[in-house]
Amino acid sequence: MLRSLFLAAAGSSRLERLVESAPVSKGFVRRFIAGSAGDALRVSRELADDGLAVTLDHLREDTRTAEQAAAVRQEYVTILGRLREAGLTPAAEVSLKLSALGQRIDEKLALEHAHAICAAAAEAGTTVTLDAEDHTTTDAMFETLLELRRDFPETGATLQAHLRRTEGDCRELATAGSRVRLCKGAYAEPESVAFQSALDVDKSFVRCLNILMSGEGYPMVATHDPRLIAIGEDRARWFDRSTGEYEFQLLYGVRPDEQARLAAGGHTVRVYLPYGDQWYGYLMRRIAERPVRVLTSKK
Ligand SMILES: Cc1cc2nc3c(=O)[nH]c(=O)nc-3n(C[C@H](O)[C@H](O)[C@H](O)COP(=O)(O)OP(=O)(O)OC[C@H]3O[C@@H](n4cnc5c(N)ncnc54)[C@H](O)[C@@H]3O)c2cc1C
Repeated sequence: MLRSLFLAAAGSSRLERLVESAPVSKGFVRRFIAGSAGDALRVSRELADDGLAVTLDHLREDTRTAEQAAAVRQEYVTILGRLREAGLTPAAEVSLKLSALGQRIDEKLALEHAHAICAAAAEAGTTVTLDAEDHTTTDAMFETLLELRRDFPETGATLQAHLRRTEGDCRELATAGSRVRLCKGAYAEPESVAFQSALDVDKSFVRCLNILMSGEGYPMVATHDPRLIAIGEDRARWFDRSTGEYEFQLLYGVRPDEQARLAAGGHTVRVYLPYGDQWYGYLMRRIAERPVRVLTSKK
């Protein structure tokens, strides 16, 4: 109930203007989101000093104009150059939402922009991972991924365990060198395409994890769920994967103690670090996941 309320709020532009201008928002937001590109570089450095890898996400969703899409491409190319200059690559890569590159207005143009960003990442000695958005975009994300992988086979993809199709998608993507992030899925989806109960989503997550861990690709286990993390650790052992053959991923500001514990245990841990001023939709999805914990936690 609360979850659907916050997910609905994530799509409300009126509420967005109200929340973004509220003075109380700023400090709260900084616990989960770096502000400027400069802040993102500083936080990336701090995380790297703590032995954590990073994936940077420039916050911008559902771009409406070609100019906005071009600006997003430029932002990514610039941050990749700055990461390289700062000596933060390859430990820092970037995450990309195709909707931010205007996929809804012009798929071909979004592909061109994504290609340019992958080229900038390759030049900087690092990689790009495509985020997963709502299920109406999954096929288009796949097509773009396959195109990008012709020139940049290291391009990563995100799969959402709550979608019924994802087990099949995992099978398709568990190939040599294929980087696949597995998460539960953050968007409200209809029963026809997605599991609705937490238990069914968790069971799907484990089936998908088994496919990815036993396959030939590079699984990126993106969850804060203690049970699923424990199963991830177990599967990595069971399938004899050593450090560098899989990784855990957690969001910036969420369970930092667990991030440190996993890294101390010899696992590669990557922190997903969003930055920029368009934080509203991202933060509402986080609050939808854990309303009480997120709204009441002190840090
Ligand atoms: C690196 C990364 C990348 C992601 N990329 C995408 C993407 O591209 N597309 C997409 O749709 N979704 C993405 N997500 C979001 C994801 O789909 C989930 O919505 C989100 O991670 C919440 O699910 P969970 O697995 O963490 O577990 P939940 O079901 O939210 O929580 C399970 C358990 O984890 C623990 N826990 C969770 N949150 C907290 C907290 N704040 N503090 C303490 N304990 C907590 C609690 O014990 C809780 O009971 C990403 C998530 C991560 C970590």
